[in-house]
Amino acid sequence: MNPQNGTVVVIEDDPHIADLVDLYLRRDGFRVLLARDGDQGLNLIKESDPWIVILDVGLPGKLDGFDVCREIRAKGIIPVLFLTARDDEVDRILGLELGADDYLVKPFSPRELVARVRAILRRTRETPVVHEIVSVGDLEVDLRRREARRGGEVVALTTREFDLLAFLAANLGLALSRQQLLDGVWGADWYGDERTVDVHVAQLRKKLGESLPLATVWGVGYRLG
Ligand code: CA
Repeated sequence: MNPQNGTVVVIEDDPHIADLVDLYLRRDGFRVLLARDGDQGLNLIKESDPWIVILDVGLPGKLDGFDVCREIRAKGIIPVLFLTARDDEVDRILGLELGADDYLVKPFSPRELVARVRAILRRTRETPVVHEIVSVGDLEVDLRRREARRGGEVVALTTREFDLLAFLAANLGLALSRQQLLDGVWGADWYGDERTVDVHVAQLRKKLGESLPLATVWGVGYRLG
């Protein structure tokens, strides 16, 4: 991990939980900014360009955690770790609409939270970079800025969608199996199955346009370029 730790925005209205998260993250070297509702949180995100957002589902005011996550997604790529009081919200949290990077169900151990934050940041900020920008036709995958552009226009992707695109771009022209993609993007300990890859590829095609040079290689998997 970089010696220079980044900023974490924590959006949580329960002061006890917020203080605990604040304490443990600061102890681990992060700069922590706390918000008690969605509006305040979105302002902090805009001002501080955080590395990750920790987001409670149930928030006071007009925006709940799901609304806040959609706003974050609409504006760019920042990883989101959800806090939830309910097991039955997990499918929605990890689903395509919100595409959160991880979640914890309350009550959780603050040490576990720090470990999860570290794991997300390892995945999203320490991808080995071969070329800074990979170009295929009018698609540019900017690995340093973590941006995908089509015809010069930035396309909003979830962190996982970008990671998948970046992994394909780092292996330009090579057919990769679904298992290779799962291991490379989701990590060996991911519990999902290979359809996860298909669903995310479909999302990339939808967002980046059907003419995207992302080919299905029958009997193998996928290839970019
Ligand atoms: Ca709450």
